[in-house]
Amino acid sequence: MDFSLNENQIDLKKSAAEFAEKKLNDDVEERDRKSEFSRDGWNACADFGLQGILVPEQFGGMGLNAIDYAAIMEGIGYGGTDNGLIFSVNAHVLVCIIPILHHGSDALKEKYLPALVSGKMIGANAMTEADSGSDMFSNSTSAEKKNDYYVLNGSKTFATNAPVADTFIVYAATNKSKGFFGLSCFLVDRETEGLTVGNNMEKMGLRTSPISDVAFNNCKIPATHILGKEGSGGIMFGDTMEWERGLIMASCIGIMERQLYSCRKYAHVRKLGNQSIGKFQAIAHKIADMKVRLETSRLMLYKAAWLKSQKKTATLETAATKLYISESYIQNCREAMKIYGAYGYMVEYGLERELRDALASQYYSGTSEIQKNIISSMIL
Ligand SMILES: Cc1cc2nc3c(=O)[nH]c(=O)nc-3n(C[C@H](O)[C@H](O)[C@H](O)COP(=O)(O)OP(=O)(O)OC[C@H]3O[C@@H](n4cnc5c(N)ncnc54)[C@H](O)[C@@H]3O)c2cc1C
Repeated sequence: MDFSLNENQIDLKKSAAEFAEKKLNDDVEERDRKSEFSRDGWNACADFGLQGILVPEQFGGMGLNAIDYAAIMEGIGYGGTDNGLIFSVNAHVLVCIIPILHHGSDALKEKYLPALVSGKMIGANAMTEADSGSDMFSNSTSAEKKNDYYVLNGSKTFATNAPVADTFIVYAATNKSKGFFGLSCFLVDRETEGLTVGNNMEKMGLRTSPISDVAFNNCKIPATHILGKEGSGGIMFGDTMEWERGLIMASCIGIMERQLYSCRKYAHVRKLGNQSIGKFQAIAHKIADMKVRLETSRLMLYKAAWLKSQKKTATLETAATKLYISESYIQNCREAMKIYGAYGYMVEYGLERELRDALASQYYSGTSEIQKNIISSMIL
């Protein structure tokens, strides 16, 4: 058993951290205040290759695997502080590009992937509805087949990137009575007549990542824009969620590493009564706990990434990975703030923003309770 990254992965992780530090961190505090998405940052990520890490070279991507993705995104999280932008890139890759890559027709791949990789197009994923939330298979958005098109009606909420998106992955019932097996998945262009995108919703954290409702009023979707077969949307959603839950926390491991580094430094330099606060056992133990949570989180991340790189099913493992890392990440953010005392509470130090950003991770990609439901249902 070998737990080490190879030389190429180490180089990619290092250059990702350098890139993020140089290109993504300008004015984050101000953009966070204004809930402003950085299109320049988005384009810089695409030029660096982030949007194309998992996409084959024939479509303009890097053709790398899930472990490479985890390593690169860990580097991005370590060097970059625009957590909202990084979250937007993750959503674009993991829940828009992945379903097209795995289930799209050749024509859809050829048409959309190069633009989604180059940064020209932004993708969003619209599954959640206001009245169904975690109970996603009781969605009411419908798609009715008519000749060579489907008529889409309904509305979605909390769609990351929607305010700036050019294309949407939309889940809709093609046969409501079949529940899970009556769900289908469509690629829907923003220009589609009858599609309206709501205003950016103001949120507590990840404020530089835009999010909104999307509504469909008799939208005519070409039948060629279905991903996979009619009725296979539920299975596709499960496949996509495994990729998202397995990999979306990779950048947060980088953030946890950066936070730990700065807390260790602070514990040395902050002196009270002539001694460093790191000499207080209460502070030293917090740092030990942060390190253990970071290391166990990292092990879970790379185990999940390895499983997906081997094309293995990993429903339980990816749910556990998402659950454990998000809760650890939040806990480390809280400890970091405590170590910094009142300075940690001040906006200038960035720690309160990290906590606000981290708290979102207990909701997106399924809440912590839903991850526990998945895990327990598979072992009980
Ligand atoms: C930052 C952010 C980005 C997001 N991006 C997207 C996106 O791009 N696309 C998208 O489709 N959605 C997105 N979401 C929505 C997210 O997936 C949902 O918020 C999530 O699935 C929960 O749904 P809900 O908020 O309606 O909560 P509800 O389902 O109403 O849950 C309310 C509470 O009840 C608990 N609960 C619900 N059901 C059960 C159960 N069966 N057992 C135990 N407890 C339960 C929940 O855990 C929660 O604590 C995003 C959310 C956030 C915060």
